[in-house]
Amino acid sequence: MEEVGTGLLDRLDAMQRVAASAPGGPMLIVAGPGTGKTRTLTHRIAYLCAELGVFPEQCLAITFTRRAAEELRERLDMLLGPVAEDVTVSTFHSLGLAILRENAAAVGLSPHFRIVEDAERLAIAAEVAGLGEAPSERDARRALDEAVGTDEYVKALRAHDLVDLDELVSLPVALLSGAPALVDEYRARWRWIFVDEYQDVDPTQYALLRLLCPPDGNLCAIGDPDQAIYSFRGAEVSFFLRFAADFTDARMVRLTRNYRSTAPILAAATQAIAPTTLVPGRRLDPARVDPEAPQVVVYAAASVADEADFVVRTVDELVGGVSHRSLDSGRVDSRATPDGTVSFTDIAVLYRTDAQAAAVVDALSRAGIPVQKRSHDRLLDRPGVAALARELRFATGLSGSLAARIRLVGQVLAERCAQPALDDLDGGLRAEDVHTAIDLLTPLAARCGDDLERFLRELATGAEVDAFDPRADRVVLLTLHAAKGLEFPVVFLVGCEDGLLPLRRPGTEPSDEEVAEERRLFFVGLTRAQSRLYVSHTRRRFRYGSERDMAPSPFLSSIDPGLLERRGGDEPRKPRDRQLRLL
Ligand code: ATP
Ligand code: MG
Repeated sequence: MEEVGTGLLDRLDAMQRVAASAPGGPMLIVAGPGTGKTRTLTHRIAYLCAELGVFPEQCLAITFTRRAAEELRERLDMLLGPVAEDVTVSTFHSLGLAILRENAAAVGLSPHFRIVEDAERLAIAAEVAGLGEAPSERDARRALDEAVGTDEYVKALRAHDLVDLDELVSLPVALLSGAPALVDEYRARWRWIFVDEYQDVDPTQYALLRLLCPPDGNLCAIGDPDQAIYSFRGAEVSFFLRFAADFTDARMVRLTRNYRSTAPILAAATQAIAPTTLVPGRRLDPARVDPEAPQVVVYAAASVADEADFVVRTVDELVGGVSHRSLDSGRVDSRATPDGTVSFTDIAVLYRTDAQAAAVVDALSRAGIPVQKRSHDRLLDRPGVAALARELRFATGLSGSLAARIRLVGQVLAERCAQPALDDLDGGLRAEDVHTAIDLLTPLAARCGDDLERFLRELATGAEVDAFDPRADRVVLLTLHAAKGLEFPVVFLVGCEDGLLPLRRPGTEPSDEEVAEERRLFFVGLTRAQSRLYVSHTRRRFRYGSERDMAPSPFLSSIDPGLLERRGGDEPRKPRDRQLRLL
């Protein structure tokens, strides 16, 4: 346990200290990337508890991903010691789930209700639509599209003691809206509420916050409107922008000192967001002084393969040459490198769409470089995960650690999938999917101790990125959405092309608002980098069924060319390309 008291705030800068030590009441902290939002938030909770007599159990900290919640919890443990356990740290989904568990009967559920899995949703929709025995998956999906949100479907869910993931926040909102006494109970329990990444709050989450916190309550919201990237899931940055109108006498604090990135990276990122910034007078002042800091590298690739090869070559150079590694053992210790500075875990490759990962994963794997790939998709939506969880739930005789049980059950399932003729219960699941599922679930199991119930609970609401293991010595591959809130010494942002950033689907033109959000996504990507940033684009890419010419992302042209070191662009075209041109 760190020393608490006045010393507690010594590790904050002046503005962070103002935010951390402010008295109660609504407070909005507007802070750019890398300005220490999580640090400020944890120190504020610790300060309130250690100095102002706030009880830890009166504090509720809400984050958007399980990973962020874990990190907050770890930092609080360090600052407050064992009493940190009494602080409720939760995602919106798990908060909703906890409220539902406490009030299950009031919403027509037993205390043992579960979150519906994909296969169950299909079966229930088919039942509602009267499709009879064993309908085809296509028919069931169509029935599901029609059934979602209807009274019959919801009734059928309840009859099976199930709730939909989407209902985890809306059901508590409906419940609390009609139960003022219950609202008072929760308000008395959590007198201090903290929300990280507030720019990504959606209307239902906002409604829950309004119920849990009175207009003059102790709500500390922290975020960056320029990092609002979840409007496709219904998030509305307007809630951030109108905080002062919604909460009485709200205090505003701005943090502008960036502790994460070198000056060239920050300058490039600031220029990239400038055309559509939602923060008037946006500033990011580098705290890191490093006259030797390298420029941002922009690599013009001839093809996707060339781009992937650039990543491999650069990783190789940074990690200090991989030829000495023992490839056959599969174990790689990249820390044993000549300069000893960069290891695989320090490197992230970011991209706009999950489909872009394959080329990079293949190239890195062929070069013997270990990787872990994570998207922001729901864990339960990944093939194999739900099936594995189901097997695990039924395998109650089994002993050993949760991770060992997952491996065992997974192996049996994978073997079964390898013999589809014997058993098609698992609906076309491939053994390979099951092995990926084992890899995804093992780190989650480790974090849940050996508590199966907790594991299944976390799994029900978790995203694939929650299974990202920062300690594994592997190059990390993430969608830009999944990379939010994280930082890496070395970042590759691949596929910076018009059509991918901003994303454009065939036959559609994105609206100005959509392009602005894509620009924010680009900004999020750039600001994940601490020391080295490589941005790449390729001249040709296979998209929507054919190979197309690609132009660099228009966002790149917002950055002063003097800040960029340009590489590539003069590779000879491959013979096949030349032939095509001749034709
Ligand atoms: P993002 O918007 O990307 O989520 P953030 O504002 O949450 O960023 P943090 O992740 O909390 O930023 O902090 C960025 C980095 O800066 C971390 O490595 C953190 O430890 C460091 N940092 C923050 N404040 C200070 C400080 N006062 N002194 C030294 N390092 C700091
Ligand atoms: Mg953060």
